[in-house]
Amino acid sequence: MKTAESELSVYESMAARFDVAVRKLNLDEGLAKYLRTTEREIIVHIPVQMDSGELDVFDGYRVQHSTGRGPCKGGVRYSPTVTLDEIRGLAAEMTWKCAVVNIPFGGAMGGVVCDPSKLSTGELERITRRYTAEILDYIGPDRDVPEADVNTNEQTMAWIMDTYSMHVRHTVTASVTGKPLELGGSRGHREATGRGCMLVADQALKRFGRKREDTRVIIQGFGNVGSNAARLMHEAGYKIVGVADSRGGVINPRGLNVSQLLDYAREASTIKGFTGGESIGSQEILEQDCEILLPAAIENVLTRGNADRIRARVLVEGADSPTTPGADEILADRGVFVIPDILANAGGVTVSYFEWVQDRQGYFWPEGMVHDRLKHIMESAFHEVVEYGQKYKVNNRIAAYMLAIDRVAFSIKLRGIYA
Ligand code: NAD
Repeated sequence: MKTAESELSVYESMAARFDVAVRKLNLDEGLAKYLRTTEREIIVHIPVQMDSGELDVFDGYRVQHSTGRGPCKGGVRYSPTVTLDEIRGLAAEMTWKCAVVNIPFGGAMGGVVCDPSKLSTGELERITRRYTAEILDYIGPDRDVPEADVNTNEQTMAWIMDTYSMHVRHTVTASVTGKPLELGGSRGHREATGRGCMLVADQALKRFGRKREDTRVIIQGFGNVGSNAARLMHEAGYKIVGVADSRGGVINPRGLNVSQLLDYAREASTIKGFTGGESIGSQEILEQDCEILLPAAIENVLTRGNADRIRARVLVEGADSPTTPGADEILADRGVFVIPDILANAGGVTVSYFEWVQDRQGYFWPEGMVHDRLKHIMESAFHEVVEYGQKYKVNNRIAAYMLAIDRVAFSIKLRGIYA
């Protein structure tokens, strides 16, 4: 039995699922040991001249989990609660995510312990540039390609790309993804994760013979993933009945007016206070009636403590690690169809891959081509995971892990272990 604390460790959660998948796959013990650990963990201490004139020092991490199938790929997050454990777990999950959608990357993740809401733009820029300079030898288009994550954005990516380019003395747009369009970003990238969530939700509906119009959706988180999922799903005909952000939520069983909600959130920087429905707590919203629940905020929101009160039929994990292994068991008993994070939110890294390809070719695709190729990849991955689950009689999450681990292990066996 796990302690409450270890239930909430992102790395332990990843490792728990990994161990189950590896046993089912009958994977060689040594290879399992190799894949359970990260390849490299970099800790940097970033000195930054603050606007006040004082010098401050921030801790930063970059963890590279696997280069077995190609360069590493993974986000950079800024938050006061970032820990090495979290970054390590997310780096490993990125390896599995890239393998589930079958794109030629391994996983990495990075973060800086800081509170962006208390920092000026200049301070954020200096943190970003020095962080980039400290990890410079380990990143780049053929080594490790950072992308935006929680509290980082297109501007952060532009600073990383510029810092990298200044050091190598030429512009390397393929050094990061999630850049502004004007600097080599890809059309369709901004909404890619939300779109990917909708694409897998569509496949789940097909499976259950349901129509979008009769499907009520609740979304926790109204940032990049949540707001784009809400907009696209609303436009496609789904009934968005509840949304929440960190400050609170709003619920309306008849369906929210999503375009008004988006306008309100743009003005108020929150959805709290929106009058098109009843107000509700950010956590409480998860337990309301709906067919699809889409957590798109933070990790560990579905635990042993609340999983038995989830009423959704389908769980689409827009966020990374929203569900603990303890909650997995309860959700399985309740017959919830889980589309796990490493599949559901892989739309973002898939279009990041498209961005990297376009940058390297210097040839940019029309938006429709990005959407079509994303659709093809997400649908194929969905069916591969579900079929794998049926074949091995495991749930979708373990199936996704098995499919991914099998692919990574196969590549490593082909390459052999360098000695
Ligand atoms: P974001 O910073 O743009 O938005 C996060 C949202 O979650 C905000 O609306 C915030 O208010 C809300 N939130 C924070 N704490 C909350 C709480 N306790 N309860 C309810 N809401 C809360 O972040 P994002 O880019 O949308 O990412 C969200 C999640 O999706 C993260 O787990 C991230 O790792 C994952 N993810 C993002 C992408 C991407 O392309 N952005 C790709 C894959 C996975």
